[in-house]
Amino acid sequence: MFLFCAFTPLLHSVALMTTLSPLVLATGNAGKVDELRALLGDLNQTLLPASELGASLTVTEDAGSLDGNARKKARAYHDNTGHAALADDTGLEVAALDGAPGVHTARFAGADATPEDNKQKLLTVMDGVDDRRARFRTVVALIDANGTSHTFEGRCEGTIVPAPRGDGGFGYDPLFRPDGYDQTFAEMPTATKNKISHRREALDALRTFLSR
Ligand code: IMP
Repeated sequence: MFLFCAFTPLLHSVALMTTLSPLVLATGNAGKVDELRALLGDLNQTLLPASELGASLTVTEDAGSLDGNARKKARAYHDNTGHAALADDTGLEVAALDGAPGVHTARFAGADATPEDNKQKLLTVMDGVDDRRARFRTVVALIDANGTSHTFEGRCEGTIVPAPRGDGGFGYDPLFRPDGYDQTFAEMPTATKNKISHRREALDALRTFLSR
């Protein structure tokens, strides 16, 4: 009985790693693949970008929540490949806009909006607004090889600056200054952003789960 109890956690983690390996990265975005490899590369887990499997799927992000969209993308790649799959979805939640653009962050200025259009729209709707608090929120979804869904969340709190600052990063980075820093995400070194970002926090939670 004692031996059974003592070995149960070990058997559990061996079973978990077996069910999780390999892990398909459910994105066609090469930048995200690099970031995921950098953050998860030491986990002794085979990471397979969907492109390397020839599994490039078009998944409509219409679930109505970050959590739902992330799970929908991961589920589509899991069902298509038969492997565990990982996907994420990120939103910018602005307090004065009751959490908008949120799940519509990528399409804030319209279905075909460019990052420039989105930033301009945010500056316009925030013109003259005193309460500039905002947060980035990322949900990472893992569908394991058995088809079970696990989600992990990360947040980064900050404020929307009145005009774009900095050339680095991507998306809304020139408009977002994380709490505790004078620079926007676009002004700070990538390594600094990656230490404090919403995606980093979500992936750290995933790392803890995978290495459990
Ligand atoms: P996605 O979920 O990574 O596709 O991102 C959804 C939207 O959020 C897109 O408009 C991205 O440009 C934006 N976004 C995601 N992560 C970040 C970030 O770290 N900084 C700035 N914008 C981001």
